[in-house]
Amino acid sequence: MAILDCTTLRSIRQMTQLDPRSLIAMAGFMATVMGMVLYFLRRYYPPSIRGLGHWASAPLMWLVASVLFSGRGLIPDLLSQVGANTLLLLGTSSYYIGCRRFLGQAGGWRLWGSVAMLAALLSTWLTYGYPHYPLRLGAFTALMICVYTANLRFLWRHGGTRFPVRLVEVVLAMQIAVLLVRLGSVVAGHAGNDLMEPSLFQTLYIGTYVLTVLMLSIGAVLMATDRLTTELEHLATHDPLTRTLNRRALLERFEEELARSQRNGKSGPAIMMLDLDHFKAVNDTLGHQHGDAVLDHFAQRTQAVLRRADRLGRYGGEEFLVLLPETDAEAARNVAQRIHAAAASGHTLDCQLSIGLTTWQGSHDTQSAMLARADKALYQAKAQGRNQTCVA
Ligand code: GH3
Ligand code: MG
Ligand code: MG
Repeated sequence: MAILDCTTLRSIRQMTQLDPRSLIAMAGFMATVMGMVLYFLRRYYPPSIRGLGHWASAPLMWLVASVLFSGRGLIPDLLSQVGANTLLLLGTSSYYIGCRRFLGQAGGWRLWGSVAMLAALLSTWLTYGYPHYPLRLGAFTALMICVYTANLRFLWRHGGTRFPVRLVEVVLAMQIAVLLVRLGSVVAGHAGNDLMEPSLFQTLYIGTYVLTVLMLSIGAVLMATDRLTTELEHLATHDPLTRTLNRRALLERFEEELARSQRNGKSGPAIMMLDLDHFKAVNDTLGHQHGDAVLDHFAQRTQAVLRRADRLGRYGGEEFLVLLPETDAEAARNVAQRIHAAAASGHTLDCQLSIGLTTWQGSHDTQSAMLARADKALYQAKAQGRNQTCVA
C-alpha cells in the first residue's frame, strides 16, 4: 500500500512537470515555422528592411539546437551538448545582430561569433577534459544572459516606443529573469545532473525557451511589418523628389485643419500657393537635372524657415502649397517674406518665386474657395512682375 502511494505521488508530480523532450520538440517546431515565415519576408519585403536574414537564421539555428538537445544520450555529447549550446548562443546572437541591422546599426559576427567559439571550446573542456555539468550550465546561462541583455539594452536605447519593439523587450526581459533564476539555482547547487531530468527549474526554463522562440520570431515579423507599413505610408504621402508632402496628403491635412477651425470657430488656417518664376527657362538653359536640384534645394530651404505646425507640399510641377494652421494675414506675410529670403541665399541653386496668399474667412469658407483665392493672388503676383507675394 505504501509503495503504491509513493508511485501515485511520483506520477502526479511528473504530470505537473512537462517532459523536457516534448517541450524541446515543440520549440523546434515553432522555430521551423517562424524561420520559414521570416525567410519569406526576407524574400518579398523590400531590401530597405534590413536584418531579416539574421532574424530568419536565428530560429533555424535554434531548431538545429533543439534537435541536437533532443538527441542527448543517443548522439555524442559533442553534438548534443557542446554543439547544441553553441548553436543556441549563435541563434540568439543572430537575433541580436538582426535587431542592430534592422535599426541601421553596424552588426557583424566578429564579436558574438568569437564569444560562441570560445564558449564551444570551454564547453568541450567541461564535457571531456574536466566534466562538470553545473559549471558548464552556469557558464552557458551567464553567456546567454549577456547576449539577451545586450539585445535588450540596444532596443531600449535605439528601438523607439512602437508596440513590436516593446513586445520584444518584454520577452527579452522575461527570458533574462528566467535565466537569472536558473543561474541562481546552479549557484545554489540545484542544477540537477542533466537537461532531460524533469525538475521545476528545467520545466520553467525550457517552457519559457519555447515561448521565447515563438515570441521573438513573432516580434521580428511585427517589427518588419510595422516598418513596411511606415515606408508604404511615407511613399503614399510624400513626393519622391523634394520629400515634401504630396498634393493628396497636403489637401487632406488642409481639410482636417478646416474642420478643426469650424469646430472651434475662432482662428483658421492661411494657405500660400508658391510658383517658381521662369522655371522653364532654368530647365531649358541648364538642363532638367539642374531643374530637379533647384526644386529640391528650394523645398529644403523653405522647410527650414517654416514653423513646426506648418506644412509644405508639392502641389504639382514647380508649384508648392504651404498650409499655416491658425495663422492671420500678418503672420502669413512674415512667413512669405522668410521664404523669399531663404530662396535668395546666394547659393547656385537659388531661384525666385511668386506667392499667392489667402486666409480663412470664417466657418462658411471652404477648401476649394481658399485654393481659388490663393491661385488668383498668385496670378496677380505673376502679372505684377513676379518675385513677390500678393494677398487675396
Ligand atoms: P512662370 O514664371 O510664369 O511660372 O514661368 P515658368 O517657366 O515657371 O512656368 P511654366 O508653367 O511655363 O513652366 C513650368 C516648368 O516646370 C515646365 C516644366 O518642364 C517644369 N517642371 C515641372 N515639373 C518639373 C520637375 O519635376 N523637374 C524639372 N526639372 N522641371 C519640372
Ligand atoms: Mg507653374
Ligand atoms: Mg513657374
